[in-house]
Amino acid sequence: MAFITLSRKVFFNNLDIITERIGSIHKVALVLKDNAYGHGLLPIAQLGSEYGVRYAVVRNLAEASAVERFFDSVLVLDETPKIAQRNISFTVNALDKIEQFARGALVELKVDSGMHRNGIAPSELAEAFARIKRHGLTCKGVFTHYRSADALSSELFWQRQNFESIKAIAQRLSPTMLRFHSANSAALFRGDFSGEDLVRVGIAAYGCLELDAPHPAPPLQPVLSLWAERQSSRSLQAGMRMGYNATATMPHDGIISAYDVGYADGLHRSASNRYTAPNGARQMGRISMDNTLFTCKDEELCIFDNANRFAQAAGTIGYEILTGMNPNFERRIVD
Ligand SMILES: *Cc1c(COP(=O)(O)O)cnc(C)c1O
Repeated sequence: MAFITLSRKVFFNNLDIITERIGSIHKVALVLKDNAYGHGLLPIAQLGSEYGVRYAVVRNLAEASAVERFFDSVLVLDETPKIAQRNISFTVNALDKIEQFARGALVELKVDSGMHRNGIAPSELAEAFARIKRHGLTCKGVFTHYRSADALSSELFWQRQNFESIKAIAQRLSPTMLRFHSANSAALFRGDFSGEDLVRVGIAAYGCLELDAPHPAPPLQPVLSLWAERQSSRSLQAGMRMGYNATATMPHDGIISAYDVGYADGLHRSASNRYTAPNGARQMGRISMDNTLFTCKDEELCIFDNANRFAQAAGTIGYEILTGMNPNFERRIVD
């Protein structure tokens, strides 16, 4: 059975780099949404907590409940709770949803500073605070999300300016102390966010942050490797073709083996005939649902040790490859 390894040493080293950049581990909120970007929710929550991370960000209440015991508090990005939770805060993504939250719930207000995806408009801040109060919710923080933090452009700085004005208004309107946060991984490594209360880091912790040149890439390394087991091997002669629709031809006589991972496990079919494994074995023929052919006969083959490299062959981004990893594969923590 194919499996996934997670390097504790690499993960901790990435967290060292992140902590140094923001100045304190107490400002790091580890983003664990979508099964911790495919790494495995529980193993990553456990490792994060072992390192000393105190805050987590997840997608829904099910994820929050599963990891709550590892952290001081958890922020849910996308669920309207039916019951208030003590150490879990919930994102308000729109003004017209406020009345749907359970009374007494802790909320954080997401404000649209320019991405135009989720969050209330800055002009709705007063109305939002009034409705939050009227409905008996407690607002714990105000945050935003950047649309182009990884890109070589001035957009990040424009959006950050917008958030500075939002903060000033929110501070004036809120009866309680708020926590403010805006940076994701890319923003953290482009600007100085030490003046904010938290950074929400996902991809940098997992070691797959990519920034447009000429931003210097921090020395983060990928935590996750995907491994597969050999199912069978055969000798093929030059000219023989293989796999569905016979899209690959042997350039010379050689050995081909099938490995037990395919597009059903998140190994995108669009990478077919375009990818080479870290040991130099070439992927040949169509990637099928549960099997993939490579030019080697190792019993265990590392399919990738850097999701961004596979993503490039598949024509997508590392985030999509990681979050698509079969959740049923065993996650082995290695050093
Ligand atoms: C996913 C997400 C993050 C983390 O982004 P990375 O680029 O992985 O660091 C931060 N904030 C919000 C609101 C998110 O949805």
